[in-house]
Amino acid sequence: MNDLIAPGGTVGILGGGQLGRMLAIAAAQLGLKTHVYAPEAASPAADVAAAFTRGDWHDQAALEGFAHSVDVVTFEFENVPVETVAIIEPIKPVRPGSQVLAVAQDRVDEKTFLNRIGAPTAPFAAVDDAGSLAAALAKIGTPAILKTRRMGYDGKGQARITAPEGAGDALGEMQGQPAILEGFVPFTREISVIAARGLKGAIAAYDPGENVHEDGILRRTTVPTTSRADVLADAHAIAARILDALDYVGIIGVELFETDDGTLLVNEIAPRVHNTGHWTIEAAATNQFTQHIKAICGWPLGAATRHSDAVMTNLIGEDAHNWALLSAENRTAVHLYGKAEARAGRKMGHVTRLSPIRS
Ligand code: AMP
Repeated sequence: MNDLIAPGGTVGILGGGQLGRMLAIAAAQLGLKTHVYAPEAASPAADVAAAFTRGDWHDQAALEGFAHSVDVVTFEFENVPVETVAIIEPIKPVRPGSQVLAVAQDRVDEKTFLNRIGAPTAPFAAVDDAGSLAAALAKIGTPAILKTRRMGYDGKGQARITAPEGAGDALGEMQGQPAILEGFVPFTREISVIAARGLKGAIAAYDPGENVHEDGILRRTTVPTTSRADVLADAHAIAARILDALDYVGIIGVELFETDDGTLLVNEIAPRVHNTGHWTIEAAATNQFTQHIKAICGWPLGAATRHSDAVMTNLIGEDAHNWALLSAENRTAVHLYGKAEARAGRKMGHVTRLSPIRS
């Protein structure tokens, strides 16, 4: 298989959302074409790609045809089934690969892996029924959070348990799906590290951002964070350990809880470009999308240096109707994802507000 994808080559992208759209735009800047594969008829990514295949995640013939038409494949959505990637991998390299997807798709496997490599997490236990939940609560205590093991995103599939009496209701919310109980972390802030690993193992990490969620959805990322320098160095070290242990290629997002004494616990890893890294488009020497394309195509990584302070705010639902006002602001970059319908809770775009660097 060809490790280096030169300009003129084609990057296959599994998933048609805004992350795929921004990957396709970055690839075009580097003289590469993109081919998007997604189940939806129309999508933000398909709008800006050279080719688009509409196909089901389990359509073997369509996936094989897609694999033969591209040089390397990546994904913009971490819930692409592992079996989908397994169909493509014998034909073309998938970066990062299916072993990474498998770990990231299951919260128990993910935390087990993280603890094995020395990356601390909240205490946790697998929960399948009332008996295992009672045992988990006896071990972890309350407050705690019960989450579905798989397919959770934007805070969906989660129930807080403040006292053991609430166990039954929380389990009901899991609707029979395998779950995980996590100890509640009294964090002072949530930060994330966006980092890249190249094909030969080079690592480039961005300054961590500080994240604020509302209703389980990311609202805002601010760089720099107010964390101490040694905490930020720890965050980078944790990200590097994860990347090396997974023999990772591409961008990863590592979400961390920071407690008031500066302890970091990994909440989750996202094996893809990440919403909390959107600020890099305007405020870093190489943005996360360009960096991901460089990594998966075997190119040397670019510098992850930040040259401005930035606040990235998601435009959710009707926020996007303010596009005209926002585009009149000074030092504000407006990004709209081309989604037709501004449904509540839907990420429609984002803005990044820049200011001169302070630290
Ligand atoms: P997640 O889907 O796991 O990223 O969780 C969504 C949000 O819920 C996180 O960004 C936190 O704000 C909160 N959260 C999740 N897990 C915990 C935990 N173990 N302790 C405290 N807060 C949590």
